[in-house]
Amino acid sequence: VDVSAEPGSRTVPGASFSRVGSLHPLLRPTIVALSQPSFSLLGLTAQEVLDDPLAPEYLSGSRLLAGSEPAAHCYCGHQFGLFAGQLGDGAVMYLGEVESDTQGHWEIQVKGAGVTPYSRDGDGRKVLRSSVREFLCSEAMFALGIPTTRAASLVTSDLHIGRDPLNNGERILERCSIVMRLAPSFIRFGSFEIFLGRDEFSGLQGPSAGRHDNRAQLLDYVIESFYPHIQQAHNNRRERNLSFFREVMMRTAKLVAQWQCVGFCHGVLNTDNMSILGLTLDYGPFGFMDRFDPDFVCNASDKRRRYSYQAQPSVCRWNLARLAEALGSELRAADAGAVLDDFMPTYEAFYLCGMRKKLGLVRKEEAEDREVVSDLLRVMHNTGADFTNTFRLLSRVPWPEGEDDERATVGPVVDLILKQCASIEELKVANKPTMEDRELAMILSMAHTNPVMFGMVADRPDVAQQLELMGRLKELLETDQEELKEKQRGDWIRWTCRYRRRLAREFDGTSDLHLVKKERLRVMKSSNPRVVLRNYIAQNAIQAADKGDFSEVNRILKVLEDPYTDPEPLCQQDGTCDETEKLFADGYDAKPPAWAQKICIT
Ligand code: AMP
Ligand code: MG
Ligand code: MG
Repeated sequence: VDVSAEPGSRTVPGASFSRVGSLHPLLRPTIVALSQPSFSLLGLTAQEVLDDPLAPEYLSGSRLLAGSEPAAHCYCGHQFGLFAGQLGDGAVMYLGEVESDTQGHWEIQVKGAGVTPYSRDGDGRKVLRSSVREFLCSEAMFALGIPTTRAASLVTSDLHIGRDPLNNGERILERCSIVMRLAPSFIRFGSFEIFLGRDEFSGLQGPSAGRHDNRAQLLDYVIESFYPHIQQAHNNRRERNLSFFREVMMRTAKLVAQWQCVGFCHGVLNTDNMSILGLTLDYGPFGFMDRFDPDFVCNASDKRRRYSYQAQPSVCRWNLARLAEALGSELRAADAGAVLDDFMPTYEAFYLCGMRKKLGLVRKEEAEDREVVSDLLRVMHNTGADFTNTFRLLSRVPWPEGEDDERATVGPVVDLILKQCASIEELKVANKPTMEDRELAMILSMAHTNPVMFGMVADRPDVAQQLELMGRLKELLETDQEELKEKQRGDWIRWTCRYRRRLAREFDGTSDLHLVKKERLRVMKSSNPRVVLRNYIAQNAIQAADKGDFSEVNRILKVLEDPYTDPEPLCQQDGTCDETEKLFADGYDAKPPAWAQKICIT
């Protein structure tokens, strides 16, 4: 720990943490929401917290609990593919750690509590908009069963700060707000990169021996504290480190597979946002896909589409390669290479396993399953199907019975799915090339004039995406609307029939068919969430909270804490309940409204 650090922009050659000297209290801090499941990790109930009149101050880092030692973590990172040098906790403060008898060890942070030694020219603040999103999504991911940092509380205030939310030069005043985050550790890949290029970017000369000692010390801390089984299993340091790197690779592969299975896009997969524990870390411009599109990019600032949905697995592998480099002599290059070579097959296996569950295919594995999944995704993409709602509907595909008329049997569920798909008009809008970027427009015009030069950039993700859109739009415009509708319906009937033939093979003829069917539904219902934190859902809560109405944030929190259970269907006055129309009480599982498509998150 560097104890001499003062607030403001600085580089710190010998330290991984710097003490934060002074607090920056909020003006009239107010609790927006508390997460009961998170507070129980600290041995507290939400009510106990609410009963303390000073809670808003403690939860916002405006006042310290006895024993707190505010500090900021110093780390580096590769941002959008380039080494960015020293970054560090610019808007986050470490407050201390809690050891509970039954719930383990939790590090406590406040995010948005003002400047730290690593704020550079930032103000160390976060606004209500981003804090509501981080708070809700942390808890939503946990409830989905996806490893994540946690959020205990969300506090807002009457302290305002200027921001440019749409990145168009228009600054507006927003409420400073603070999320209290919890995790066993917030150490990230970038925490190790700090030891790599330190003297190159800091301009400070120093004995290199010290750097290596710090790296070894941090590595020992991480392995001894969070991977004790690996520490215990090895006497040889290099072997221990290799086994650690392999486990980080496995956890990362599993994490990204889980993201893909719920249509989650992280948005800023820089190495400083990659948890060394395989947790989802740093909820910024993340997004859950509404309409399925493998090219989906949730972060409007990511013009080159580096962090699109389909790119996430390979980006994670790339980030692991940067971690291996940062571990340097702690890891043999050949060993690291072998682990990295296993990343894609490991990811594929986790992904396929997750997708099989989403389809209720749990009793056997078939070579064809991969094809069944990719075929489904192709149909979803072509018809602009809503990712979450379509998967949820698949449990309604009837189990194949004897000699039934296949096409007639799947008809009703196909009609329900088609209601979750984009209309032809919506598809045309969705597939309209944007070409906001002049450079991009120039590159695309080269396709005709200079095919050789064009060939050199054609696989750049943004170029490839525009080309794909052009092709899709052309097809949409050339086909007769009725013909297109018929084709979409036909594609869904074809796929659901294929799926039923696969389902039939789940039953080996000997076991109890009733139990097999029940198991299929149970697995599907607990793998396909009914509700995820869509942008428009968060947006409604943010708008209300900004006006002082916190009820929507709290309502959504409760809904997201239980994403797999169907609420009671809405019943009519006469007592009849309309199950098939999916008229559920809360409405969060409906097809998103049209304005959802226009939300821009940066
Ligand atoms: P991110 O893209 O959220 O991972 O952030 C990149 C870097 O910017 C990190 O080092 C953050 O600590 C820093 N940062 C983000 N927001 C602020 C802020 N409001 N003030 C100062 N630093 C910030
Ligand atoms: Mg970050
Ligand atoms: Mg961030």
